[in-house]
Amino acid sequence: MAHTRFGRKAMHAGKRTCIGCHTRKDPNELLRFNLVGGSLVCVPEGRPRTGRGVSLCPDRQCVRRAIKSRAFARAFRTSNDVFQDLCVDKVLAEALNAYKTRLVEVRGPGGPGHEVLADSLNNMIIRLEQAIKE
Ligand SMILES: [Zn+2]
Repeated sequence: MAHTRFGRKAMHAGKRTCIGCHTRKDPNELLRFNLVGGSLVCVPEGRPRTGRGVSLCPDRQCVRRAIKSRAFARAFRTSNDVFQDLCVDKVLAEALNAYKTRLVEVRGPGGPGHEVLADSLNNMIIRLEQAIKE
């Protein structure tokens, strides 16, 4: 039994599930949000992703589905009232802001040597900007 559980874990190592479309993806392809003081806070790539969090595709449809299906409340085990004012644009704007801030840090003093991370952050920023325009 223990072997089976370990095997399953290893098979899905590192993958996260989008709470909108339920697809398993590499964590760096997904947005990650924590709930801090009743607000969704995006944790960009390269930051420790600790505590209870949700993963979402940087995709308007996935964010909309997550809001409609009350997936945020379920994932954070809280009342859906917390997310009453949540809308797709708010979620995407928070993520874009977090990734842009992170990119400035990575490219700033003490940041050299993080070219791979900077590229990855930049790719997510481009995807988010497209999603916001849609
Ligand atoms: Zn998705």
